[in-house]
Amino acid sequence: MTDFDYDAIIIGAGTAGLSAGAVLEKNGKNYIILDKKKEIGVPVRSTGAVSLEWVRRIGMPENPEIIDAEISSMSFRTDRNARIDMNFGKTVGLVYNFTNYEKFLSNKFAGKLNIKLNTRVTGVSGNVVTTENETYTATHIIMAAGPQSTFGKKLPKNEVLVAYEEIRKAPARDDFQMILWFSDDAPGGYFWDFSESGNSRKIGVCFYPLKGEQPKEILYKFQEKFPEIKGEMISTMAHQIPLGMPLETVIEENRLYTGDMVNAVLNTTAGGLQGAFWTGKEAALAVVSGNPKQYQAKWDSEIRPWLMKHHNLHRRMNRNGAKSIGRLMTLAKVMPMSMKKKVFGGL
Ligand SMILES: Cc1cc2nc3c(=O)[nH]c(=O)nc-3n(C[C@H](O)[C@H](O)[C@H](O)COP(=O)(O)OP(=O)(O)OC[C@H]3O[C@@H](n4cnc5c(N)ncnc54)[C@H](O)[C@@H]3O)c2cc1C
Repeated sequence: MTDFDYDAIIIGAGTAGLSAGAVLEKNGKNYIILDKKKEIGVPVRSTGAVSLEWVRRIGMPENPEIIDAEISSMSFRTDRNARIDMNFGKTVGLVYNFTNYEKFLSNKFAGKLNIKLNTRVTGVSGNVVTTENETYTATHIIMAAGPQSTFGKKLPKNEVLVAYEEIRKAPARDDFQMILWFSDDAPGGYFWDFSESGNSRKIGVCFYPLKGEQPKEILYKFQEKFPEIKGEMISTMAHQIPLGMPLETVIEENRLYTGDMVNAVLNTTAGGLQGAFWTGKEAALAVVSGNPKQYQAKWDSEIRPWLMKHHNLHRRMNRNGAKSIGRLMTLAKVMPMSMKKKVFGGL
């Protein structure tokens, strides 16, 4: 027994925090999740595309009510006419309905989680977490406050992508459910077109804003070259994606850092949901075991090497912008299909 209010306080009710909360809930721990937002799943923070292989490997949900689209075919292109098309003949990826996905994690995945919304954390010191109105104490603190948090290591601007997406009215495509275009107009990132529903699509861009460019302007300029992605806008969202090297250290005394706070993002695809879910889960399992070092060990042996593979590939891909990505695509074209599926399908 300790004199603290909780076994663990989780700061942030995004994917990492909710995944951690689910483990603590299942294991009967006394915990609370604090988040400044007003509603779970709002604002939308993600396109929601994930690899089915990884969803199953790390135990993410795949319930039909949270899935907008299934991906069985994808096309990687450059705006210099290089492309690789892949039809897998089966589902290899999912596109979550992000709001429903986070709501599901918060109240159905492991039962109803103990979450306090409208609560901005202003300080963390030892076992004490301070909010605008209260203080809370806990044995462990799980840090899940997202990209560029004041409580984490900040990345330099040239390692953070800005991302912007519009959901647009558009008929379903009968060729690909996912198209990525690499272009020097989007350095370090890409333009995307994902299926959402039968009559809408998710169209977006992410890139390093090296010259301070605005993502909406970049997207609108690009669609003049590829009018097939045009459509009437239904809603928009924008946020940052950390694309720096995954951190080496993820625990500090009683604090366990997760998700975007430790750059658990696959640099090649800028996908961070899987890394956030996995790190949240492992951090909470370590809390359950009473040994936070277990999380650092998992990070060192499995999670960080997985992220580093993508980090190194991304650096190679972007050495000379779209030109080098085009070259890699040409190289990939001569790969046997089995290898292509392994390399691109498992991303
Ligand atoms: C436009 C866009 C598209 C993307 N598309 C994909 C995709 O298709 N697939 C994919 O895998 N990844 C995608 N990503 C990346 C992915 O969304 C993130 O990596 C992931 O959401 C990170 O989860 P997280 O839990 O670490 O952080 P977040 O989801 O950012 O959660 C952090 C939470 O902490 C709360 N918080 C922050 N500070 C405080 C505070 N002081 N007090 C209280 N609460 C606080 C925030 O309100 C927030 O709810 C995309 C990102 C963007 C921006």
